[in-house]
Amino acid sequence: MTLPLIIETKPEDWTYVSEGGATIVFSYRGPHNVQFSDHVLRLRKVAHGSSNSTLLDSNSEQPDDSMIAFQENIISKLVPSEFLPSLVVVVLDEDWLRSLVVLRNGDRPAERRQTDHIDVRRSKGVLATDLIGGTPIAMEIKPKWGFLPTECHLSPETAALKTTTCRFCMHTSFRMEQGGIGTTYCPLDLFSRDETRIRKALGALWAGWYESHGSLNNLRLFVEGRMAKPDDDHSMQLLAHFLTADESTDVQNLRESFTSALAQALLDSPVLPLLSTLQRTLDILDVEGLSKLYTQTSSGSSCDGLGSLVPDPYMEEWEDFVEVYQSDHHSWDHTVPSPGHIRYYLMAYLLSATFKDCSIIIRPKSTQIGSFDTTIIDMDIKSMDRLGKWERLDRKIVEHYKSSGSQRRCIDSQRISQSGCTQLSEWR
Ligand SMILES: [Zn+2]
Repeated sequence: MTLPLIIETKPEDWTYVSEGGATIVFSYRGPHNVQFSDHVLRLRKVAHGSSNSTLLDSNSEQPDDSMIAFQENIISKLVPSEFLPSLVVVVLDEDWLRSLVVLRNGDRPAERRQTDHIDVRRSKGVLATDLIGGTPIAMEIKPKWGFLPTECHLSPETAALKTTTCRFCMHTSFRMEQGGIGTTYCPLDLFSRDETRIRKALGALWAGWYESHGSLNNLRLFVEGRMAKPDDDHSMQLLAHFLTADESTDVQNLRESFTSALAQALLDSPVLPLLSTLQRTLDILDVEGLSKLYTQTSSGSSCDGLGSLVPDPYMEEWEDFVEVYQSDHHSWDHTVPSPGHIRYYLMAYLLSATFKDCSIIIRPKSTQIGSFDTTIIDMDIKSMDRLGKWERLDRKIVEHYKSSGSQRRCIDSQRISQSGCTQLSEWR
């Protein structure tokens, strides 16, 4: 198959959509083209002054190739294809990218422009289904962690907290202490399958979006292919036009209409229960249990941190992993994890992190008024060298929360009763 070439389009054909920490997204608005119409272009970014990526050999495998292969070969076995965007590699061109930067850099938020820029030396990018354009409205939610850990592998110091307050709520408290913006959103409400609680979660997401002027990344709204901001009257009018019967831009009214439309869309979709199940079954030991098992198996050489000595898996290993996950995993006794399965558990934790970090896009079906399509995006492979950082962050977040004296009660509606933890003392 010949790969599409970006130089077959003009930089002017692409408009800025949004960006995250590592990537930036543009939408195709040029003349009809089989390969590019209804697609977005996802490009990698690089920090100002960084030269890391400039040395990439164009023949070597680049992260986007492996990201696409990861979705095609691994994620697609766990998530039905109807909930996944199509992804293909596109061949880039440095001069073309430089022209795009000149044209569109001004559309990026100032704080992003100060820290990074499009990596113009990349030879490949990703073309994905455009879930934002071609529809009057689209909503992007980053749901985050949808479960409470089981007690089995938690230490006496953390068990009471971690089984009462969810990871996201503890992290929010930690971030607020560091000067970050607060939110009352709790993922366990969103994942609850209970309409009242889903509406509560959506109301909190809306309030966070509104009060942060659209800068929190848990909710993004798009109207007519562009990101909507609460202080932009035109955006709010378009939102009101789509969401409300009377087109009123009254904030309470808009919030109510937003939560009603989205609550129904989420209740009708199997996507959130699927994500929660994947997250919780893949992160079955909690990072604490994983760390203990790793220490047992790495004979004292783990001083550099969890997973530090472990090479990243090849794609073939991920394929084998999924086979085990779909078969043996369910019959193993995870309360007494076998040290022989340490690599499996490490990979499972990485994959769980992929599902904790993804986003969902909800947009109206073109064929059926009042019903919505839900698509899961941003499913990147995580690397073993992140594990040590996550373990330290987990400890920091819990210690902070403990010292804050607060104890929010987050209810995990899919949690199965705690049993089989009695053998815990034998291996702790
Ligand atoms: Zn919570």
